[in-house]
Amino acid sequence: MSTAVAKPGQTTWWPATVPTFTPIALPPVLRLAIDSAAAAPPEGQMVAAGEAISPAAAARTAVVAPCRARVGQVTRIESSGVVLARIELVPALDGDASVPGAAVANASDESFRGASTADFGPWIDRLGNAGVNAARIASPDLIGQLNMALRRPVDTVICGALDSDPTMRVQGALCATYPEDLEAGLTLLAKCCGASRVCVVIEAWSPAAWTAPLRKVLRGGPIKPVELANDYPQSDPSLMLYTITRRRLRPGRLPVERATLLLDAAAAIGVGRAARGRPALPVHMAVRDRSAGMSHYLTTMDGTPLDHILAALPVSRPHILRGGDLLRDRRLARDAAMAVAGERIIHVCPPEAIVNPEPCIRCAWCMESCPTRVHPAMLLEAAQENDLARARWAGLDACIECGICVHVCASQLPILDGIRQLKRRGQPAAIQQDRGSGSKVSGDPPGQA
Ligand code: SF4
Ligand code: SF4
Repeated sequence: MSTAVAKPGQTTWWPATVPTFTPIALPPVLRLAIDSAAAAPPEGQMVAAGEAISPAAAARTAVVAPCRARVGQVTRIESSGVVLARIELVPALDGDASVPGAAVANASDESFRGASTADFGPWIDRLGNAGVNAARIASPDLIGQLNMALRRPVDTVICGALDSDPTMRVQGALCATYPEDLEAGLTLLAKCCGASRVCVVIEAWSPAAWTAPLRKVLRGGPIKPVELANDYPQSDPSLMLYTITRRRLRPGRLPVERATLLLDAAAAIGVGRAARGRPALPVHMAVRDRSAGMSHYLTTMDGTPLDHILAALPVSRPHILRGGDLLRDRRLARDAAMAVAGERIIHVCPPEAIVNPEPCIRCAWCMESCPTRVHPAMLLEAAQENDLARARWAGLDACIECGICVHVCASQLPILDGIRQLKRRGQPAAIQQDRGSGSKVSGDPPGQA
């Protein structure tokens, strides 16, 4: 396994060399979420690697088989009142249980460089059919953004390559490993949108070993590297957009509303590989054992259950699992599965003692720490009193759910839980329906299958 250990007291944390993503063996069963059981192929049917098992619908991406496999059980599942389905695929190992597709193919079709805005619709279809998508905090619903960009002007493409957790630099490692695919993806998207400004946001003071390959590929071209101090939660779309363009984006909305297409490095590389006719990448991810202070960089497949991944690692037990930014506190079930569109970092955390919160002492630490200047203590009170109007006055709509207020709270109050309750109450039923309807929603944990 590729592992790295933080030194005590180290604040800026960079492994000396770019980690390699170690492939782990295929699981006995892959679990993928699809929109509807009716669209699934029949049980027992063989599907080829890259074959669509749930075709791309309007504003949706196809779910493709990540390897040759036999279709297993299809189960109707209900999540937050929304009905979708989970399909199981039994990989056909053919004598090789390693994750295929990790090696860089030699073939490269560069015809996408002639793309223009007139080709945008067909390219969205092509990307959707290839299973390209992203729907995580730092890379909001990509296919949704592209469909919106068909109807609205986009003048800027931002690729965020910041890793919000310095102990798991998945985006940085992908930039260093696949710079040509990243450049290709951003070039295609900029041509299709007609965007005149394209940049890759990298962390200021990154070691040269990490950024040199990307800088070399971008040198002299229209895509500019932009260096940014990477203070959490800078990679959040609303903050990123404001820092780079001074455009204000309401949390949870798509950046295209502000004439900007925003995606992360993993998504841009996925687009680039589809554009160049290369095989789709498997899922590159990192697992951080927070008790042992070790990070594992892995390559796995869409639909791989977390318990299979953890069984292959020397992680501390017992533990609880969180996906994405640690402070956002998105708990994961052990039977959750990695999703190509979802978060790429997993925290293996020691179990926590149940704490009894103290009363709010009005220290205002939460207010001073909030990156979007809302009033977290008042939001918690509004949640306790079920007072949505007061919550809006306190800034509910500007909250990006970064969790910093909880982290600093002197009384260990469950502010984020209160905020999420308020947001659920304040959402029209139609939006709640849309959030669970198969197109992965930014901020949902990985592995919704
Ligand atoms: S989670 Fe707390 S700190 Fe973060 S934006 Fe919301 S109120 Fe502010
Ligand atoms: S940090 Fe906690 S205790 Fe202090 S004002 Fe905010 S909610 Fe109250």
